[in-house]
Amino acid sequence: MPWRGSKDPYRIWLSEVMLQQTQVATATPYYRAFLHRFPDLDALARAPIDDVLHAWAGLGYYRRARMLHAAAQVVAREHGGRVPDTAEVFGALPGVGRYTMGAVLSIGYGRPLAVLDGNVARVLSRLEALPLAVKRPADARVLWTRAAALVPARDPGDWNQALMELGALVCTPRAPRCDACPARRWCAAFARGAVAAFPPAPPKRASERVRRAVALIARAGRVLMTRREGALLDGLWEPPGVELADGMAAKPALVALLRALGLPARLAASGERVRHTITHRRIEVEVWRGTLTDAPPRGSKRVRWVSAKSPEVAVTALGRRLGPFALAAIRRAESAPRTRRRVR
Ligand code: SF4
Repeated sequence: MPWRGSKDPYRIWLSEVMLQQTQVATATPYYRAFLHRFPDLDALARAPIDDVLHAWAGLGYYRRARMLHAAAQVVAREHGGRVPDTAEVFGALPGVGRYTMGAVLSIGYGRPLAVLDGNVARVLSRLEALPLAVKRPADARVLWTRAAALVPARDPGDWNQALMELGALVCTPRAPRCDACPARRWCAAFARGAVAAFPPAPPKRASERVRRAVALIARAGRVLMTRREGALLDGLWEPPGVELADGMAAKPALVALLRALGLPARLAASGERVRHTITHRRIEVEVWRGTLTDAPPRGSKRVRWVSAKSPEVAVTALGRRLGPFALAAIRRAESAPRTRRRVR
């Protein structure tokens, strides 16, 4: 892992933020590319948020990128560009939770603070045969107490990284490699022959079905996109779309949305459907083809033409799924007979 061995708090911070919700193999190329683009905290703090989201595009959970960027700006402005080394100050930065704080301060500055993520929680649950699931808040509190009690005063960063990697590489959720485990002789779950019983399975979250309609409007190799707003995808771009309540017809909802964006358009159903899943939401997307009947508003911050082949802004995962449909829309727009403007 390219971040191991580094004591640079910015690099550790970045890696830990990327690894929340993302597998090591997926995060690694993003980590390298992100550092290439923003090699230090000042470079990140100076960058516009759109550039940061663009570098993050594909990793998901964009709130992480926005918080990291906001925190970098606070550090640049109020702490001379140096990552704070105390729990009080570092822990007060945007997006810094207890896990990130423990990881950055123990590895970067040798502070004796614990970490607890899914990997560490699994190792602790098995080592001590504790029937505790980290996703249950009451269980998480007990696990944090256990994790804190184990952190040594000497080299706490090495200890935390060892626990994280034991969980990631040896004590894996399925088929843990107990035969190769350096902690086997202290492991209560192994001694009982009950490794599979720890940790207990977390409660399942019911999945939710959602209907959505999108309008693909193309011109000169580009597709019209709007900026999403709201908690999850704030600041990312995708073709204009609207969520449909039960029984709601797609066309009038799309027309109303386009009108609100200043985009008068004719719409035709394509008959195409895209299925897209985000966490527990299963989204069925109706694809509509649109033709503008007037020019889009100039200088709008919510609407822009985006290259369908290599978008210059951060596009949502759904927007990327719609890429082939967008290219087909472009081909159709290019092959459509042009109406000649009458010369008076
Ligand atoms: Fe995990 Fe097996 Fe090691 Fe116990 S012995 S900590 S269950 S890998």
